[in-house]
Amino acid sequence: MAEKRDYYEVLGLDKNASEDDIKKAYRKLAIKYHPDRNPGDKKAEEKFKEAAEAYDVLHDPQKRQQYDQFGFNGPQGGFGGGFGGGGMDMDDIFSMFGDIFGGHGGFGGFGGFGGFGGGRGGSQQRVYRGTDLRLKVKLSLQDIASGVTKKFKVKKDVVCTHCHGTGAEGGSQPETCPTCHGSGVVARTVRTPLGMMTTQSECPTCHGEGTVIKNKCKECGGTGVVKGDEIVEIEIPAGVEEGMVVNVGGKGNAGPHNGVNGDIQVLIEEEKNDTFTRDKQDIIYNLLLDFPTAALGGEVQIPTINGSKVTLKIESGTQPGKTVRLRGKGLPALRGYGSGTGDLVVKISVYVPKTLTKEERKAIESLKNCENFKSDSTTKKSIFDMFKNCFN
Ligand SMILES: [Zn+2]
Ligand SMILES: [Zn+2]
Repeated sequence: MAEKRDYYEVLGLDKNASEDDIKKAYRKLAIKYHPDRNPGDKKAEEKFKEAAEAYDVLHDPQKRQQYDQFGFNGPQGGFGGGFGGGGMDMDDIFSMFGDIFGGHGGFGGFGGFGGFGGGRGGSQQRVYRGTDLRLKVKLSLQDIASGVTKKFKVKKDVVCTHCHGTGAEGGSQPETCPTCHGSGVVARTVRTPLGMMTTQSECPTCHGEGTVIKNKCKECGGTGVVKGDEIVEIEIPAGVEEGMVVNVGGKGNAGPHNGVNGDIQVLIEEEKNDTFTRDKQDIIYNLLLDFPTAALGGEVQIPTINGSKVTLKIESGTQPGKTVRLRGKGLPALRGYGSGTGDLVVKISVYVPKTLTKEERKAIESLKNCENFKSDSTTKKSIFDMFKNCFN
């Protein structure tokens, strides 16, 4: 593991940061690196944990004072071997900081975060969130069986490289808003029939940002984002279905003023398959068996979804309409939505010849009166006996 970074550095703050700054900085990082927005991204998970650990120490005045004084080791190696010695696990993070996350949901449970930008109160400054993008993707059954990574070229808002997202021109910095002094809100006292009342509303000068940009960036006009193209790789998990929407956190439009990125929502469409049809996790294959094999038994090759073939043993006397399940040769369950793998269901019908040569006709005619070829036959003779009787 890389050397531990200073907690202030992790949160992008200096040592004089206020409690409010710490909370804000942490919240921004937590949203950016939240596992729901970065599924399977180990780096994001590390950053998420690192930020949580920094916040854990710095938001507690006592721990912070000791950290400032003694660094990671705590006083005389106290704190159970120093801060964050054992690392934090995700459950700790979610249970400790439930107040900040406002509850943690699973897949898609992140939606609650989206409103965060507008839902502030008190002195919290606005953190802008980029809007979501929507894409459609057509997948083959093979893609669905194995999961697939698809590349898209998307037009989206990207961070302005000229001002590095600040929106300010020429290396200048946004300045504290003179109207609200950085709080993003103004108090208004109004006369009502019940007396004088004070209400808080969004600062009209900075629109809640707490800062104003005097010298706006000429590339982005002060928003910190510009239109751009980006190649986005999207990992579609195995087991998805037509109509499902896969949310890819943090790959949508960049948030203005170095805010957090929106998501990409990918609508799944299924390509029609000539060989197979799908029934939830099962794959259906219609096998048209020739009559001699149905009657005598034998072996046939069955295609599977992964391209290989399996040998299916056909018992003698196999009837049309029979289904055979090849266990575990269907589709996997979508991660987190079930378990196990479906089956390959072989539905058997028997082929009846459409045209016959003279010889073929003769052969079949000779079978016509055989006892076992009558459909109401109730005899339980073997197929061998059946033919023997017939030709003797
Ligand atoms: Zn700019
Ligand atoms: Zn203001």
